[in-house]
Amino acid sequence: MSKREVWKWIYINLKPDRAILIIAMICSAGVAGVSLGVVSLLGSFVDSAQSGHARLNDHVDPGSLHKIVIITFEVVVLYAFKWFFTYGQTVLFADAGMRLGLRLRNDIYSHLQGLSLGFFNGQRTGALMSTINNDVPLLQTTVIAMKDVAVAPCLIIGGLWKVLNISIPLTLGAVVVVPAMLGFNHLFSKRIESLTGQTQDKLSDVNTLMEETLSGIRIIQSFGVEDAVVQRFKSENKLSKDLAISVVRQSAKLKPTSDLVGATGVAIAFVAAGTLVLRGHLTIGSLLQFIGGLNLVAIGIGGLGSTKVLWEQIKAGSSRIKTNVLDVNSDIADSPGAIDLVEGQGRVEFRDVFFGYKPGVPVLCGVSFCMEPGKVVAVVGPSGAGKSTLSDLIPRFYDPDGGAILVNGHDVRDVTLKSLRQQIGIVPQETVLFAGSIFENIRFGKPGASMDEVIAAAQAANAHGFISDPSVMPDGYQTIVGERGKQLSGGQRQRIAIARALLKNPRILILDEATSSLDAASEELVQDALDELMQDRTTLVIAHRLSTIVSADNILVMDGGRIIESGPHDELINRPDGVYARLYETQHRREQDTDSRVQPTVPPAESCSLTGDLAL
Ligand code: ATP
Repeated sequence: MSKREVWKWIYINLKPDRAILIIAMICSAGVAGVSLGVVSLLGSFVDSAQSGHARLNDHVDPGSLHKIVIITFEVVVLYAFKWFFTYGQTVLFADAGMRLGLRLRNDIYSHLQGLSLGFFNGQRTGALMSTINNDVPLLQTTVIAMKDVAVAPCLIIGGLWKVLNISIPLTLGAVVVVPAMLGFNHLFSKRIESLTGQTQDKLSDVNTLMEETLSGIRIIQSFGVEDAVVQRFKSENKLSKDLAISVVRQSAKLKPTSDLVGATGVAIAFVAAGTLVLRGHLTIGSLLQFIGGLNLVAIGIGGLGSTKVLWEQIKAGSSRIKTNVLDVNSDIADSPGAIDLVEGQGRVEFRDVFFGYKPGVPVLCGVSFCMEPGKVVAVVGPSGAGKSTLSDLIPRFYDPDGGAILVNGHDVRDVTLKSLRQQIGIVPQETVLFAGSIFENIRFGKPGASMDEVIAAAQAANAHGFISDPSVMPDGYQTIVGERGKQLSGGQRQRIAIARALLKNPRILILDEATSSLDAASEELVQDALDELMQDRTTLVIAHRLSTIVSADNILVMDGGRIIESGPHDELINRPDGVYARLYETQHRREQDTDSRVQPTVPPAESCSLTGDLAL
């Protein structure tokens, strides 16, 4: 991101809080003004004390004494103002920073919700979490820290005004070192910029590793590789800390170096000013004011150095947030003029559909078939044949590269995503339950559904029994399930997913290997629930167990992204040398030996190309 773009982005994002920031900056100017006032009063105080030193018969000059009392009172008043200004700037900058953090988190989260699966496939969750957990707070604390730098320009301007008023030649002697100070600032800032970027990237790696290894803890423990994983984590974590400390080192060098160079200028001014005092051309009070004024200028320039650091942090953080998330447009969005899909019979048609996740690697090649209203279409085929991909195109998780998918006669790209997905229910291979109660998890299918509706759906899905069993669910429907519902069995999770789908009451159903990993008893319960769910709905079933789909109205046999056979079970089973017939026979034999999960073994089809001919 260019400097201009960063400025523009910051301006847009801070715009809602500009009133707060303006008042905060006025407070900062107030703090600087008080410092300047104290320096001036100190000079007047010393000069008054010195002039009142003339003893008149051991009496103190009443005029000077009066002046000293007034000055002392003014100092107290100034500090009272400083209290308000300091409080104001601290609270207001913090408020603006937190508001910015709040808005960014909300924006990022809402934006992510609207992005397509294609985006998430290419992203690591840890890296996205890092953007929310590290980059947003970085910007937030940067705005909060602005309180220290907002005061800098005021100190520089006020301090310069003060010293120039006392002596222009002295001031010029002192500020001769300013270019050197700015040069050092620039040098350190460049290093800090590069290190800040590297630190944030490494932090993102650490987050990703943590996220992936914790969600895959089962695999890690089953392979007994905990030590290796911990070692890797420790090493990444250490790299992250090393980079972070490098940023601190560079930042810590910046100010003292700037001060040191500044002190050279002050030393030059001291010699010249001391000579002027000795010659009686300058009062001690003016000398003190000059030194105090110079000190304020030096503090201001040091503060500008911090501004550079903050700026580099803003640049690094905002670039990542903008480029990695907010600037990413969803490739799946409502087309201009998209209409709402009215609830129809639920007819689905694939017309010569081609699709690939990556250019040049086709996954579906000229797929055509129809799902008639209320009928069941089953898709079978070896792993990687494209079955799940095919089902993902119906709710428009992806768009085809060629051909079209029609629902109730409308191309899915011409209707609004919301209305399309409203009519589709999915019971996935791996049921995801969210942290919350069972009630909330079922109601996911129809936000706003009543308890009676939820119970009715659970009953139809054979889930009411275990939900109301206190030994399984101590608080019934209000039992809180942990993340992904790990304390439930696979069958129980699937029945909850079925209840969810029932409550949604969609016209079109997609069942992805819903009963593939269950034991016989559980499968029966789930199958009953599915039968209930499938009634009068157009259903696409992706199944590996052929026994569960013998009654399907149409069976599509897929391989290499093509449909190589299709028809009802009775027809396919009797095809001489038919792939399905062979598949069924093999599975049937295996099921007699063992009830293990069957992997279809159809001969591999020729790999297809986007311009290839249809297999069928
Ligand atoms: P399985 O029965 O094992 O679930 P499947 O028949 O459902 O397999 P798909 O999951 O549709 O097959 O995958 C079809 C092909 O697309 C495979 O070669 C797979 O590697 C590839 N694929 C699937 N998802 C993605 C993705 N998100 N990005 C890139 N390639 C993908």
